[in-house]
Amino acid sequence: MSIIQHDGKFLMPQLAYGANDLSPVISGETFEYHYGKHLQAYVNNLNAALHGSGFENSTLEDIVRQSSGGIFNNAGQVLNHTLYFQQFKAPKEDNAPMGKIAAAIDSTFGSFDKFKAEFEAKGVSLFGSGWVWLSADANGKLVITQEVNAGNPVTANLRPLLTFDVWEHAYYIDYRNARAGHLKALWSIIDWKVIEERFNS
Ligand code: MN
Repeated sequence: MSIIQHDGKFLMPQLAYGANDLSPVISGETFEYHYGKHLQAYVNNLNAALHGSGFENSTLEDIVRQSSGGIFNNAGQVLNHTLYFQQFKAPKEDNAPMGKIAAAIDSTFGSFDKFKAEFEAKGVSLFGSGWVWLSADANGKLVITQEVNAGNPVTANLRPLLTFDVWEHAYYIDYRNARAGHLKALWSIIDWKVIEERFNS
């Protein structure tokens, strides 16, 4: 099942929080630009490219798997940002996963702290624009991968669970060039219930 239903026209993803609720990790100003301008442009561009493309009845994931060029770039960014924005909630100290996803992280990476360190390092070392991902493979095994530009793990038959956006537009207003500091701060706003639902689906 696709994370976004559409009828030949994609809509902005619905969010369970307001523009200022992620502050100070993601400020209201960054949210207004990132969600309100960058993501809105990707949605508009995808809808414009969809008409006459042959992908009108495809799921968003299938468009990402099967397309190339401009339609791939915009579909990938709509999928990536939908997964990104829907995984957040208001900041909480000592925020951590629970249940099956916590157990899977511990057994795969050694501990939650080791997982966070590896995930942040993959985000910091990604050159240029892209995304770092936690995904599950066909056997449910967890894996961390990097994708450049609009890439998404669904093209490698992985199921995306969690993602950090390392395009500069995600952090430049609040953190300037300090990508590492931004990535470290993101852990306090991850809604692990959402990640667990993706893992169990
Ligand atoms: Mn972005």
